[in-house]
Amino acid sequence: MKTLNDFNFKNKKALIRVDFNVPLNDRFEVTDTTRIVSAKPSIIKILEDGGSCILMSHLGRPKGIQDQFSLKHIVSTVEDILGVGVIFVNQCVGEKAQQAAANLQPGQILLLENLRFHQEEEAGDEIFAKQLSKLGDIYINDAFGTAHRAHASTTIVAKFFEENKAFGNLLAKEIESIKKVMETGEKPVLAILGGAKVSSKITIIENILDKVNHLIIGGGMAFTFVKAQGGKIGNSICEDDKIDLALAILKQAKDKGVQVHIPIDTIAADAFSNDANTQTVAINAIPDGWEGVDAGPKSIAQFREVVMQSKTILWNGPLGVFEMERFAQGTIELGNAIAEATKNGAFSLVGGGDSVAAVKQFGFQDKVSYVSTGGGAMLESLEGKTLPGIAAILE
Ligand code: AMP
Repeated sequence: MKTLNDFNFKNKKALIRVDFNVPLNDRFEVTDTTRIVSAKPSIIKILEDGGSCILMSHLGRPKGIQDQFSLKHIVSTVEDILGVGVIFVNQCVGEKAQQAAANLQPGQILLLENLRFHQEEEAGDEIFAKQLSKLGDIYINDAFGTAHRAHASTTIVAKFFEENKAFGNLLAKEIESIKKVMETGEKPVLAILGGAKVSSKITIIENILDKVNHLIIGGGMAFTFVKAQGGKIGNSICEDDKIDLALAILKQAKDKGVQVHIPIDTIAADAFSNDANTQTVAINAIPDGWEGVDAGPKSIAQFREVVMQSKTILWNGPLGVFEMERFAQGTIELGNAIAEATKNGAFSLVGGGDSVAAVKQFGFQDKVSYVSTGGGAMLESLEGKTLPGIAAILE
């Protein structure tokens, strides 16, 4: 796997696909800088070598050129984080962009305008990709968040660089972390899947059954499995059309020797509200009119034990409706256990959508081994798919 550390960038212009698709408030201030901070190591390495950086990214979902989606809004934040001035050009292809790239000196950073101002970006247009490729000498992909898309800047552009292309530090770290869970992880390997829907995780479950020793199924997803096994789940969320599938998964897991852990008890609420009345009940005996909204104490204790035995841990999806304070306990306790196991030497990877939000909300991001920066890209990797942005570098 070629990374940017295999190159010396002295007097070279690195064309870097970063993921600066950051949230902005109504005053156009960046409200979460994680993605910019994550891109810093690659950029600094190139500058320290004596090279220059041409940064390209998308921001939001513009329809044509729309000022509110201009990357000009993030320039000062990028400068603050990198500690280096940033030249901004209001094009990503065209004469101005070419001129700005041609004038770029070692040690300088150029930020191009939003790639998605051109519909050719998402269409994976070759001519557009070729125009982008003319701007730099070496192509670096450091945007995991878009690596599952075959867009011009994430995938197609790579073909114009032959040998001169590599993964940035961030993307390399993402790939290594996933590999540690899926291939090289020390056993026992545990996957924890929570969240709302079986249907959105089904391909992941099927793929990881060959890789893990333990599987915890929690959150709203668990109720489809409980109902499949004949339990009474009251008003809990359930995908009735996935019941047969749930049974098939349990059988597959048994055949493959994977130990599946489903919650034993649950916090049941009489409404989907933080102010609801609650009671702790067995997961398979939820009274009519009540719904399971968080893992119960027995389940948490059991999950904790599994976590503490595991040497490699993947966590995707919360154990309850963590957005409501009273139903966040299961998710917090699970985070605590994973943090403790990590401290004791386990490798822990958190990724995919809401688990990342939960980890950040409860301050676990520095207590686990790695928090993935890509939602969809992470889920597709766990499904066993080869991401086009990654394949394009390896080709
Ligand atoms: P996902 O995007 O599939 O990872 O699902 C995340 C969502 O699952 C979060 O918004 C949680 O509130 C929700 N969730 C977790 N547990 C439950 C539950 N028992 N009932 C309803 N929603 C849940």
